[in-house]
Amino acid sequence: MTCKDCGKDIGHDEHKASLESLGIELCERHSRLIKKIILNNNTPLEAIHLFYALKEAGAHPMLEWWDGKKSVDIAISRVKLNIEIDKDYNMITHEQAISDLEEAMHSFKNGFTTIRIPHLAVKYYLKDTVQNILGIIDGLKANIKAI
Ligand SMILES: [Zn+2]
Repeated sequence: MTCKDCGKDIGHDEHKASLESLGIELCERHSRLIKKIILNNNTPLEAIHLFYALKEAGAHPMLEWWDGKKSVDIAISRVKLNIEIDKDYNMITHEQAISDLEEAMHSFKNGFTTIRIPHLAVKYYLKDTVQNILGIIDGLKANIKAI
């Protein structure tokens, strides 16, 4: 058993503790780091799961990336892609809806693409979600080359 972050060998207890609390195999140090990130940013667990799945797929994601104004759940900086996990899709208020759209507009103007992924997609279709994001990354790469 190894830590999904640093590849260090982890013992049975560390393995069990991190799986139970975070749903990811992590060493004690990385469990602590991730828990701190969650506490500081209110990061959804699905963002953590997606982050490690993207890392494994070689997409070089960054977790809770500061874009100058706010923290983005996951960013793929090479192609200026920001990924936000939507936690309560049904609970969204009209103010939130228009402010999300405005944020998306501002990031487009700055050359960033923002995609919002419902947490249920990550929870139930993690592999498909990763495949689709890899497709988006390829598309963005092709666009960058075309300019
Ligand atoms: Zn580790």
